[in-house]
Amino acid sequence: MRFGPRVDPAPKPTGPKSASADVSDQDHDHSELSEVALRVRALETLLVEKGYVDPAALDELIETYEHKVGPRNGARVVARAWSDPEFRMRLLNDATSAIAELGYGGRQGEHMVALENTPERHNLVVCTLCSCYPWPVLGLPPVWYKSAPYRSRAVNDPRGVLADFDVRLPADTAIRVWDSTAETRFIVLPMRPSGTDGWSEDQLAALVTRDCMIGTGLPKQPGEAA
Ligand code: FE
Repeated sequence: MRFGPRVDPAPKPTGPKSASADVSDQDHDHSELSEVALRVRALETLLVEKGYVDPAALDELIETYEHKVGPRNGARVVARAWSDPEFRMRLLNDATSAIAELGYGGRQGEHMVALENTPERHNLVVCTLCSCYPWPVLGLPPVWYKSAPYRSRAVNDPRGVLADFDVRLPADTAIRVWDSTAETRFIVLPMRPSGTDGWSEDQLAALVTRDCMIGTGLPKQPGEAA
């Protein structure tokens, strides 16, 4: 099966909020809620009716992770590392505190490790057990990241998984797979695209995709920046 963007449609602006983290990155077609979404909605309704949950607080939580926390944070981290060699060293030595310099941290980002891609080694991140993911820098995990096929094949056939994402690396580039845990969360530091000398951090950040920080993608090339 493919894991690429085809199975992970971009989040659409949503109508009434009713979803938990798990549901928020599914296609929001409220006429055909999945069983999970229906169960979440039932649960939320019950919790609100009983007074255990404040719907406004829930909306704020979802809003935070859908729009304020997301892969643009990670892109800023990568762009800084590309621009500032000392920051890059700090990031590789102690990612949690380097990332905190940019103001990002908190839940699911307490023990960050940055993995630098080189011509010799490409890093790919998975959570074989469940879906551990660095929320403060990448936001909520995409649906495919949580899928059983990705979780098993990333380990058994990483090159095949990358091919599914249309990433083809030179044969002599080793692929190292890193298993996230509740303890450690990873961010991949991709290689800076050539032809970007003198670019500002904002320009560089525009080349950094979510997938290239998971290792299932590569940064955009200068001509592809929006
Ligand atoms: Fe996990």
